[in-house]
Amino acid sequence: MKQKTVQIVLPAIGASSNRGAMGWCNISIVRAPGRTILFDTGSNDDRAELCAELERMEIGIDEIDTVFLSHLHYDHCCNIEVFEHADIFVSARELEYVISGEFKKYNDPYIPYGMIKYYEDRFRTFRDGESLAEGLRTVWLPGHTPGISGLILEEERVILTGDAVKNAYDYTHGIPPYAIYDGPIGLESYTKIPAAADVIVPGHGRPFTVEKGKITYIGEQKPVDIMIYPNQEHLDALEERAYQRIIL
Ligand SMILES: [Zn+2]
Repeated sequence: MKQKTVQIVLPAIGASSNRGAMGWCNISIVRAPGRTILFDTGSNDDRAELCAELERMEIGIDEIDTVFLSHLHYDHCCNIEVFEHADIFVSARELEYVISGEFKKYNDPYIPYGMIKYYEDRFRTFRDGESLAEGLRTVWLPGHTPGISGLILEEERVILTGDAVKNAYDYTHGIPPYAIYDGPIGLESYTKIPAAADVIVPGHGRPFTVEKGKITYIGEQKPVDIMIYPNQEHLDALEERAYQRIIL
């Protein structure tokens, strides 16, 4: 029986700048028998909007009994301290990658090691294929990082991938997810998806389906409001251009 659902709380914004990537991932609520799960938490910068959006959705912080972290990059895991009473799941391989210091070998700059070490005792780990609830299965999708994992809603044929799939374009064009660990392994991970799911919620793009190579996006994309604060004299001259609304 189809009884599990996914709702996007904060939609991903795929954006980059000459100061590096802007790490805005999809943050979702997965409801399954016996669990209300937050899939990825976003970064510190997301915290205010995440809490505000949960309130708008009438989901109490304490209703979220489970946090699932696809991987331990800062833009996915930095709000775990908000969910004081939740079980926090991450794959055993991903936690090992961080705690053992292996991430340094890959010069992975996105690991907030101090925060993860501080919360080390709160993590509950799983191995590839373990279920978190009936019909809700974890899947190991290495490549972007060694332990990155997704969640599959089995009857509903939905997968949430975190950065194992960044966006529909990469996935349909055989472009590996930006690979800290191993690009070819990341491509191999793509091949696990079609047998398990029709709907893909990627890490940094809109949810989609693919049929015969054709992408169909799901749901509306909210506009992105970007505020840029130039020097005051520029602001005086360009006031109307200092605030941009962009539809991706
Ligand atoms: Zn990442």
